[in-house]
This record gives sequence, C-alpha cells and structure tokens, in this order.
Amino acid sequence: MTTNPYRLSPDVRPVAYRLHLEPNLESATFAGTVEIDLDLATASSAITLHAIELDVEPAELVAGSATFVSSSPTFDATYETATFTFASEIPAGRSTMLLRFTGILNDQLHGFYRSTFTDDAGVEHVIATTQFEATDARRAFPCFDEPSLKATYQTTLVIPEHLEAYSNTAVIADVATGDGRRSVTFAETMIMSTYLVAFVVGPFEATAVTMVRGVPVRIVYPVGKGHLCAWAMEAAVHALEFFTDYFAIAYPGDKVDLVAIPDFAAGAMENLGCVTFRETELLIDPATASTAELERVALVINHELAHMWFGDLVTMGWWEGIWLNEAFATFMESICTDHFRPEWKKWVGFNPSRDMAFTVDGQHSTRPIEYEVISPNDCRGMFDILTYVKGCSILRMLEQFLGEETFRDGIRIYLKRHAYANTVTADLWAALEEASSLPVGQIMDTWIYQGGYPLISVEDGVLTQQPFAYAESTGTSAIGSIWQVPVLIRSLDDDATETVVVSGENATYATSGAAIINAGGSGFYRTRYSSARLATIAARLTELDELERAVLLSDTWASVLVGQSSFEDVLTLALGLADLDEPATWTVVATALRMANRIVVDADRPALAAATQRICGPVLARLGVAPITGESHQAAELRAIVLDLLGVLAEDPAVISYATQRFDASDVSGDLADAIVGVVMNLGRPGDLATCEARRQAASNPQDEQRWLFAGARSADADGVLALVDRCFTDVRTQDAPYLLAALIRNRLVGVDVWRAATARWAEANAKFPHGSTVAVAAGVTTIVESAEVAQEVRAFHEANPVEAGQRQVEQFLDLLDLHVSLAARTRGVLGEQLAAIATRA
Ligand SMILES: [Zn+2]
Repeated sequence: MTTNPYRLSPDVRPVAYRLHLEPNLESATFAGTVEIDLDLATASSAITLHAIELDVEPAELVAGSATFVSSSPTFDATYETATFTFASEIPAGRSTMLLRFTGILNDQLHGFYRSTFTDDAGVEHVIATTQFEATDARRAFPCFDEPSLKATYQTTLVIPEHLEAYSNTAVIADVATGDGRRSVTFAETMIMSTYLVAFVVGPFEATAVTMVRGVPVRIVYPVGKGHLCAWAMEAAVHALEFFTDYFAIAYPGDKVDLVAIPDFAAGAMENLGCVTFRETELLIDPATASTAELERVALVINHELAHMWFGDLVTMGWWEGIWLNEAFATFMESICTDHFRPEWKKWVGFNPSRDMAFTVDGQHSTRPIEYEVISPNDCRGMFDILTYVKGCSILRMLEQFLGEETFRDGIRIYLKRHAYANTVTADLWAALEEASSLPVGQIMDTWIYQGGYPLISVEDGVLTQQPFAYAESTGTSAIGSIWQVPVLIRSLDDDATETVVVSGENATYATSGAAIINAGGSGFYRTRYSSARLATIAARLTELDELERAVLLSDTWASVLVGQSSFEDVLTLALGLADLDEPATWTVVATALRMANRIVVDADRPALAAATQRICGPVLARLGVAPITGESHQAAELRAIVLDLLGVLAEDPAVISYATQRFDASDVSGDLADAIVGVVMNLGRPGDLATCEARRQAASNPQDEQRWLFAGARSADADGVLALVDRCFTDVRTQDAPYLLAALIRNRLVGVDVWRAATARWAEANAKFPHGSTVAVAAGVTTIVESAEVAQEVRAFHEANPVEAGQRQVEQFLDLLDLHVSLAARTRGVLGEQLAAIATRA
C-alpha cells in the first residue's frame, strides 16, 4: 500500500478536526482554520497531507508543552499534497496541528463551490455548497483525504446573518458576530471519512421536523419550494425505518437533512446527516409527476439513506472497493422501494437497467467490478454502470441464491463487525459465509475480479457455460473465462425448482420436460435454449412469471445483436404479449422497434409502421388512449410505451391527434407526459421548440423544467435541434448540459451533425462542464448507425481526444456503436421483409 505514491504515510493518523470556515459568497472566496489532532506512530520532522487550490500558511504544531512552527508548505500538484517541514522532530504520539488557509469558491461543482439560482420573483441568489467524493475535500480544507483515515469533525461556519447553514450534525451554537454575520457551530460528528463532510450555506428553508425512531428528519430547499417536499419526506421516513430494521443498527448520526441544491454534478451525495441532491431527485409535485418520476425520487432517497450505514458507518478501505458502497446502495434502494410500494414491482422494473449493464459488460472493453486503483482518476472512472448496476445485479443473484433472510443476516454481521471502520471485499464474503455456511467468496470472486458474464446453453439435462461476447475479440479482452454460476431451474410442468451451481464448463441438472433456466430472472447471465426448447417455452409464454418473460425477451434481443436471432424472432415474441401489462418486457420490444427505426431504409418505412401497428395497436385498443382512474401503474406505463411507438413509428393519426390536443392545451403531466412530448416533437411543427422553452422557463417543478429542457432532443426540426447545441454552452446549467448534448446526439435525424457541432467545441466543453462529465456527452454516440465510415470518424475523434478519468467508458460507448453499426449493416437489406411478415401475422 505504501508503495502507491498517491497514498499518505500510514504513520500519521488524524483523530479529530476542528474546522472554522468563513465563506464570502460575493467575492467567491473563503478563509478558514483547521486544528487537527494527530497520532504519530514515529517521530517525524515533516507532515504531508492533502491540499489543492488552497493557500496555506506555515503550520503551528503543539505536542505536549512544546510548540513547533513549520516552514511554508511545499505543494505537489500531481499528488495534491502539502508538506510541512519542521526544524526539529515532532515526537511520536498525540499532537495538534493548526493551519490557516484561504481558497476559492469554484464553479466546477466540486470541492467548496458557488452556485446561483433565480427565485420565482426573478431575484438571483448565491449559495456555497460542497461535493467531496471522491477526493475533493482537499479543495476545501487541508486534510488527510483518504477513506480509511477516519476522524471526527467539528465545524463552525461564519455566514451572512440572513442566510442559513447546514452541515453533517445538529447546530449546537448560533451567535451573532456583530458585523452582520452569524457564527454557527455544529456538533462533533462520528468517526468518518473526509469525503462525507459537507457544508451548505444559502437562502434555504426547511420543512418541519419529522421524528423517525428518535431521529429528526427535514427536507431543506431553496426558498419558495416548500410545496414540493411532501413526497420526499414520505419516502425518507419509510426508508429510515426500513433500514433501521433491516440492518438492526440505529441510524448512526444525530439528524437527517435532505438538501436540494440548484447546481449539482452527480445525482445525490450521501454526506452523513446532510445528504445533498439535484433538485429533480428530491423536489417533486405528485399531482403532475409521472409514476416513473416519483419512483426515481424514492429510489435516490433510498439509495442515499442506505449509504448512511453502507458507506458512512462501514467504508471501503480504498477506492477500488467503491463497489462495496455503490452496488450495495443500489441493491438496497430496490429492496427498500419494493417494500415502500410493492405494487411497483421494483425488481421487475430493474430489468431495463440491468440490460444496459449486460450490454456494456458484453464488450471486450468492459472491466472487472474491482481492479487496482492507484490515482484519484482511476477511482473517478469507477462510478459507472458496472459498479452500480452490474454490482447490484450480482448481489441480487447472490441474495436469491442464499435466501433473503440468510443474506440479510450476513449483512448484519458485516455492518456490526466493521462499524466505524473500513473493509475490503473479502470482509463482506466472510460475513455472508458465516451466515450461510456456503463458499460465498469462492463463487463471488469469479464475478468481481473478471469482466463479463457467461452464456448458459441448455441441452437435455446439461448446462454449458461460455463467455458471452457481442463481437469477436480483435485484441485484448476484459471478458473472463469461467464463472461459478448459481442457476435456478423451474419445471413448467409441475413448478418444482432446482438449484445447480455451474462451476466448470458443464453441469448436469435433473428437471425433465419443459424447464425455465434462470427461474425468477435474477441470474446475471444470458440463456440460450435450443430452437425446439425455445419454441416450447414461447408457446407457454404466459406460464412464465413477469421477470422471466422480460428476461426471455432480453436474451432474445441480445441474440439478435450477436446475429444468432433475427428482428422477426424478437417481434414474434412481442405478438404474444398483447394481453400483458408488463412495461419491463415491453421496454425490450420498444428497444428493438426503435433500433429498427434507425436502421430501416426509407422504402421500408411503411413496413415498420405496419409492424408497429400490428404489435402495439391491440394493446392501445385494449388499454384506451386516455388514462383511467384507478388503473395499475403497469397499465399506465405500458400505455405510455405503446402510445409513443404508435405516434412516432406508425404515425398513428388517432394517437397524434390525442397527443397534439393535450400538448396544445398545455395538459402535459402524469404518466403520458414524456410520450406526448415525444409524439408532438416528432412532427417538427414550427414554433413548438419555442413553446418548450417558454414552458421550461415557466415550469413550477424540477421535473417539468427537465421535461421541457430535454424535449428538443426528440424534435424533427433539424435547425431547431442544432440551435440547442449552442444553448448547451450558454444558458443551460452545466449540471445538465452534458446530458442534453448526449440526448441531442441521439436525435435520429441530425445526431451526426449534433455530434460534429459538439465535438468541434470539445475543449470548451471540457473546461466549462463539471470535471470528467464530457463522458456523459460521449454516451450519446452509441446510436449513430449511419455507416461504418461515420462510426470510424467518431472513434477516431474520441480516441484522439480522451476524457480524463473516463476514457474506459468512452471506449465502451465506441464498441457499442460498432455493435449497432454491424447490426445495421447485417440487417438493413432484410429488415423490410421481416417487418412486413410481422405486419401480416394473424
Ligand atoms: Zn451511491
């Protein structure tokens, strides 16, 4: 460990920080002092800690009765450190170091940063807030900025009198300083990592406190948005109770504030007791939002509150273990949401995100969930779909294999044993082995330390595994070779189940007759049945459970992408789904039809329209175009899917008329909101983009604001779409601009032109948007399926202009683009015929 030059000396440990900060919001600067109680293992004449973009004076250090003063610090820009050298040796044992420093409130949305927002009356307000994960606490105060160097923090913020301040703990003193400011002191925190420290200063208000198991909970919001907090409070109260019970450990802090921040690079951040969110992830109006938007807010709250235990109380020892935090919080967000609203069927609804992880992880440019992390940049590249979604998927597979209670018992052992401390992956497996008496580590290491996943082929009584890959490997591949695969099998004849761990190339199973492999649908692998077996299962499609059906469709679509099955195969399955209100399954159908829409030649567009009508028409006829009070969430969501497909791909006049009417009447809310916008935007009517912008400016909640901001991405008005690229560099918030650019690149008609316009300003994008977020822009390229030449142009640019800390993800997007381009090349000539065949099926 000590050989990593990015790591601090293990001989100097911080014990407690006393931090005093005076932010000046007008000048965008701050001044501060920090007293750090240290524990030195050996005597030393130099102390090195982290500091970047800070001016720090020489240190004063008191050890017993002796006082030491250092020379001016030497800064190292590569390792982001400051070294203080003393004329004589500091003795081993306890001492206290005092540092005085000044810094800048930056506009990069990391460290201690400045953000502005305009209230409903048109008044602009300034806030100062923090985002420290992974390694940006060092931009706000000199500190030992590594997750295993845990300490306590007591913070005092001196702020303008009329503003409010929040930090990790409750306020213990709030006194006027006599110069128009207040000095607000917060209680000492528990022992925790630097990346979890937070301060927020600005014109905020808070809801009344709700007590949950003795813990005060509030929602904190920019002035004037108090009417958008009720849903967040309901979800937070549920989550805090749920996790307290699930983990069987009380919440480790003294209060919970959930804080909405107007400019925020990530989705949310699990600072202990002071959780920060993008406004869209916290503030919502249930009267106008879609169920998907309500679910999103609940999921993010559940995710962050799970971190209070998994991440904050027990923390990975070093950044390579970030999956321990993020995969687990993603897993718990779903478990908790499933408990909060069982009718949403969260684990079925997880299938579309898991499919995206499968798609990335089937590329040779994938990576293992855990790999060696040397520098902070290595770590920044780990906050991706593989850490969050694949990690969650393999935990779900393990939970279903061990049994839900056994799994939970193992988690309780793990958290209790490592509370206030740090762990490695093996610690989690050890606790789960103790609870289950099964070789968890041996099984799970095959999923953590190699990329990819297996394809399980099924013959009579035999399961065979091989690595799944979307393309031939032309060089190095991160896809592994063999996994220990817990396979659940269910007989369709008598419903009996069987579990087989496939640990070699082959394994036998006993279930005879028609059997579903990956029963329950929680396995992270693809299944390939023989044609005869697949035909049997397709004929009995309604005997599968909902997630099994979604998985069957997903496996078939994956098979289309690798050239083993055809569009006709997957769309034939779709014809058997007309009576089922299953949005997760229908999402796969929508993916296939939308890809067909990108590939098909103009002469075959009528066939695409007819096939879409044949597949989706009966569903909309059954559900009705307009929402019905009291119907299931699934029915409402399915209506949105088929209405969108019919309006855009089939140009169904009745759908277009309905959508246009509601759009023009400004009646765009609820589950159909996005579909209505999509259908109308696709018409490319003059003036609609201006309407969207006017509605964005007038939006009364964050979801509507986002909806109208992103509406243009689906517009058929080519000039209008290209004009939006400019706006991403001017008046769109930098937290949103990279994502909007990606959405514009996905525009079917002018995506290539958007991409060229955006990449022509690449240096500007990298300078202006939050650090590393041009990865999000590059995510848009996967659907540019025009031609191999264009794909080559895209690849050449992104390989010549790598994104710092994110290039591995960019390589994955480029490989996905190649995959889609080869699908297009292979199928374009036969697609029309296949679509026509579907259209005329009885
Ligand atoms: Zn997280």
